[in-house]
Amino acid sequence: MSAYSILKTDGGRSSLTEQAIHGFASRFGGPLLAPDHRDYDQARVVWNGMIDRRPALIAQCRSVADVREAVRFARDHRVLTAVRGAGHNIAGNAVCDGGLVIDLSTMRSVTFDPGRRTVRVEPGVTLGELDRATQAHGQATPTGINSTTGIAGLALGGGFGWLSRRYGLTLDNLVAADVVTADGDPIRASQESYPDLFWGIRGGGGNLGVITAFEFRTHPVGPEVLAGLVVHPFADAARLLRGYRDFVAQAPEELTVWVVLRRAPPLPFLAPEVHGKEVLVFAVCYTGLVEEGEEVLKPLRALGRPIVDVVGPSPFAAWQSAFDPLMGPGLRNYWKSHNFTALSDGLIDTVLEHVARLPSPHSEAFLGNLGGAAGRVPTDATAYAHRDANFVLNVHARWEEPGEDDRCIAWARGFFTATQPFATGGVYINFMPGDEGDRVAAAYGANFQRLAALKREYDPDNLFRMNQNVRPGA
Ligand SMILES: Cc1cc2nc3c(=O)[nH]c(=O)nc-3n(C[C@H](O)[C@H](O)[C@H](O)COP(=O)(O)OP(=O)(O)OC[C@H]3O[C@@H](n4cnc5c(N)ncnc54)[C@H](O)[C@@H]3O)c2cc1C
Repeated sequence: MSAYSILKTDGGRSSLTEQAIHGFASRFGGPLLAPDHRDYDQARVVWNGMIDRRPALIAQCRSVADVREAVRFARDHRVLTAVRGAGHNIAGNAVCDGGLVIDLSTMRSVTFDPGRRTVRVEPGVTLGELDRATQAHGQATPTGINSTTGIAGLALGGGFGWLSRRYGLTLDNLVAADVVTADGDPIRASQESYPDLFWGIRGGGGNLGVITAFEFRTHPVGPEVLAGLVVHPFADAARLLRGYRDFVAQAPEELTVWVVLRRAPPLPFLAPEVHGKEVLVFAVCYTGLVEEGEEVLKPLRALGRPIVDVVGPSPFAAWQSAFDPLMGPGLRNYWKSHNFTALSDGLIDTVLEHVARLPSPHSEAFLGNLGGAAGRVPTDATAYAHRDANFVLNVHARWEEPGEDDRCIAWARGFFTATQPFATGGVYINFMPGDEGDRVAAAYGANFQRLAALKREYDPDNLFRMNQNVRPGA
């Protein structure tokens, strides 16, 4: 019996015939990694160090044909299946125990079309790779704030960062996608072709098929923008957050300011006596003209007395990787998230109470600011439903030792519970840990039933269920 002949199927563990597996292996063009393969252990690692799963087989696809073979094999033998982009998902849904991983991480081409101002991206591409390709032409599409994150999972759930107030979510900029359905059929989905499927993949989080290529609209950005950090003492945070709330309410859409609350890491521009102390950081990106940005930022810079202000002209692609050193792979992570329409005094005070009790040096809370173009899209225009989320709180518990699990997770949950009364009830699927099955309907909000109906049409047997899963609806 070969090392990968035991795969977890719908009925639990059962044996597939050698013949079926060898037939798949003979048709599949990329590497098939079983547990005895030298690359297996590296290929099953994902960003969140809490996740330690052992798939029976990792199918590293090199082409659409490989994806189709893998999907058909999984469907025919009802094999538990995970789909992997760049492996950043906090819930670890890119890998499964005992099943098949359809690994897309080596499908990484990016092709910019200067005439149409679109970029075609394969599903293993990271945000940094996408930015490099588009910024060479002074263009960008809105994505997230860490360059190592995968475009696939990010775009399928929403995708927001420094450009979203100006140009919308990542999925708002999707022009078309190539999809392999649960039947193994290739479909091009766009407003003109399979518009229902196109609606569903924009927020449906991988429930409806495997995307083998995304085509995004791009916009002029930089290449130089005004960006950086304004770091303040935590003692002033209550006043600063109220000032921030008033400032962003009138800020132009070219400007995005997020708030990071954490202990100061040993960054070169921070004096050693600040390292390890709680700080409030305004992370700033203005994508209009740099001189205009200096004017726009004046009221924010007039708030409080910063420890340091390192906002200045920066290549956009460099700013997109500015947070990478703080968010590297391998640490243990547990996240909790809420959406808010506004930052009330009560919310601000509650957030600060919990930040004052950070459970580890790596833990943090951040408040992302949305609205603008991302908020103007009608709720039913895409499967992503949270157009009212002007602020997204992400509580990042992040630590090193398994012995700290309970304490750190309890902190994140306590923070979440305390801030819940101020929240909309919606949540961004890409910030949900693996234990939030009870929030799935809230995560798809007003669009849940329509997604469930689509799921029944495109994936009636729920082959694609390693995700924030929408079950095929009645
Ligand atoms: C450090 C860090 C920073 C982040 N910052 C942001 C941010 O600024 N903004 C933001 O919006 N999000 C952010 N995120 C969240 C991010 O959007 C999700 O983690 C997302 O799932 C990452 O996509 P991936 O392809 O890397 O993940 P994977 O773990 O590879 O995939 C996630 C899931 O997406 C589905 N999937 C992936 N590829 C495909 C495909 N081709 N076809 C069908 N389904 C697929 C699968 O269900 C899979 O389980 C961040 C995450 C991390 C870890």
